[in-house]
Amino acid sequence: MSEETLPYKLEIVLCPLCGNEKYSVYIEGAKDLYNNLEGEFNVVKCDNCNFAYTNPRPTRETISYFYPDSAGYYQPDEKKEVKKEKLKDRLFKSCLSRYYGYNMPKCIGLLDYFYHVFYKKKFYKKHIPHFVNKGKLIDVGCSYGKWLKQMKDFGWDVYGIEFNESAVEYAQTQLGLQNVALGSVENVPFEDAYFDVVHMSMVLEHVHDPVNVLKKVSQIMKKRE
Ligand SMILES: [Zn+2]
Repeated sequence: MSEETLPYKLEIVLCPLCGNEKYSVYIEGAKDLYNNLEGEFNVVKCDNCNFAYTNPRPTRETISYFYPDSAGYYQPDEKKEVKKEKLKDRLFKSCLSRYYGYNMPKCIGLLDYFYHVFYKKKFYKKHIPHFVNKGKLIDVGCSYGKWLKQMKDFGWDVYGIEFNESAVEYAQTQLGLQNVALGSVENVPFEDAYFDVVHMSMVLEHVHDPVNVLKKVSQIMKKRE
């Protein structure tokens, strides 16, 4: 495909971390293995700070080509949501309720006790007990809102940012997540120190200006004493 007929535009960029111009090619001709879309890209390594980044890369205005509505991460897992809750999930919620104070149904007796003992480390990794039932949380790059909905059910005041329009519409209309907005976290106005928790999963490596995103995240997050 010649450059004129490409469904996206390319730009040559300076190192997103230190602004240096010089680099060496690190990986040549990498392809999109997730959606199998057209194109081959070089990952280069900055000669100054060793940061590795795609260069040239698709522009901000055209990169949505690589994030089509059909991508797996935008597909709501509807079957799973209506399926009857498994015993494992009930035990899990009961543990969260009993040990961290989440507003969820407890199992009768101490049926969940052994589950808690065996899976304690996993619980700590996935959950944030300190602000239960009273915290403000934002998911940057929240897709269609599956994780946000779960956190809302746990008692969080939830917000989301997502740049795929269909995913935002699903989060708002199907999951009732009114505070999910279309766009990038850099451009959405939030007061400083507004959130207790900022969550990003598989996001930072996809953004055009990771340093600026992290600055914005630091600005909207409450500082802990
Ligand atoms: Zn650099």
